[in-house]
Amino acid sequence: MSKTKDPKERLRKRCVTLAKQTARKKAKYACAYCGRKEPDVRTHGSHIYSEGVYKSMSADVDNILCLCAIHHLVGTWNKSDKWSWHGTPLEAIEWFKEKYPNQYEVLKKRSQTIVVCDMVYWEDKLEELKSYPQATKKPCYNKDMSRTVKTILLGELRKKTAKKTRLERELKRVVIEEEELEAEIKKQ
Ligand SMILES: [Zn+2]
Repeated sequence: MSKTKDPKERLRKRCVTLAKQTARKKAKYACAYCGRKEPDVRTHGSHIYSEGVYKSMSADVDNILCLCAIHHLVGTWNKSDKWSWHGTPLEAIEWFKEKYPNQYEVLKKRSQTIVVCDMVYWEDKLEELKSYPQATKKPCYNKDMSRTVKTILLGELRKKTAKKTRLERELKRVVIEEEELEAEIKKQ
């Protein structure tokens, strides 16, 4: 059975998505490392204790860090010698320990606890996540980006409308001049 067809895994994934949205919202969509915010940067929800190994913690809001794309991933736009959660994991965890010592201790203790992750566990988790205010709200990056696109399009429309008005006025003038010339010719 594939992962996505497993109802428990599907429910867990749904919880993870909600938890990431909630964690980012709680962080006011600011990168925990550099402080830059949406919409200037795109932010991600990044697991502190990894999703693959610590499944039971994968939808814990306090196990998710809001990081900008640059400080979360390593990719062609971000060379691996620069600090990033996945690019320089040892430095990253040292930084986390130092910046959030209490949260680190809490998570560490939790990671050593054995939890049975059955359907009921994830159903309860989903209810808990739904109780957070506006956890399902769309990320502000997308909202702001679509607003920016709308502003650009409205600007274009205004320019085109102004051009149309100008051309219509010009056309009227040409028609009047034409009529005047015809009248002049008739007089001759
Ligand atoms: Zn950052």
